[in-house]
Amino acid sequence: MITVTDLTKVYSQGGRTVHALDGVSLTVPSGSIHGIIGHSGAGKSTLVRCLTMLDKPTSGTVTINGVDLTAARADALRSARRRIGLVFQQANLFDSRTIAQNVGYPLEIVKADAARRKAKVDELLGRVGLADASNAYPAQLSGGMRQRVGIARALATDPDVLLFDEPTSALDPRTTDEVLDLIVSLRTPELAVLVITHEMHVVKRICDSVSLLEGGRIIESGPLTEVVSRL
Ligand code: ADP
Ligand code: ADP
Repeated sequence: MITVTDLTKVYSQGGRTVHALDGVSLTVPSGSIHGIIGHSGAGKSTLVRCLTMLDKPTSGTVTINGVDLTAARADALRSARRRIGLVFQQANLFDSRTIAQNVGYPLEIVKADAARRKAKVDELLGRVGLADASNAYPAQLSGGMRQRVGIARALATDPDVLLFDEPTSALDPRTTDEVLDLIVSLRTPELAVLVITHEMHVVKRICDSVSLLEGGRIIESGPLTEVVSRL
């Protein structure tokens, strides 16, 4: 479960201050898929950077299964960050590594032994439907397949939270549907899934609940059907 409390990020921009995030609070329980939707400039990228602590929030807290990332020191922060699997718009794979090596990369970083790495990579490639592509290179795969590899890699360290940042913005409609179906199929009781997007059809198709971000604030939040009916 991920809990965000009163998250604020203030930038100063040529002498004036911009509240990119202005008191954002939300909870995504394990087992659920939550969408955050907002137009350009709403604060989505800032939220992604603050949730992952790539950027330090001005105030507020981000807690994952009870661990407050904003209070963690370097060591604790590094391991806490592994509790979040991140999937970007583009998979950003290593071109010179095979699909299996790309998926296993996070496990190399934590020095998992080769046998465990192989078992995990095989399991994940099966889950994303790429068991046959393990020895291929990224350039040999379609955009949708590369996105699947990115998703498998994000799951390598068994994260508690899977965070998607505009996961389908670079994909055509058919591939988008394929990737969205995959996201739904990844649902487990332990995993909290957060999807940040500007595309309402993505939220409508896969999310249980949704928050509307505008001007750095959440202006609507609730079960999908309720929020959609209020729009
Ligand atoms: P979105 O991803 O929804 O398009 P952003 O998080 O990029 O929104 O931006 C939210 C607001 O914060 C915008 O007004 C943007 O100009 C401002 N902003 C974002 N990043 C910075 C930064 N590094 N420095 C100054 N202002 C920023
Ligand atoms: P994306 O297109 O991925 O949402 P953005 O265009 O929001 O990304 O931001 C790209 C980069 O530019 C980020 O590192 C962000 O911090 C920075 N940035 C965004 N808006 C501003 C701004 N108004 N002033 C300064 N830097 C900004």
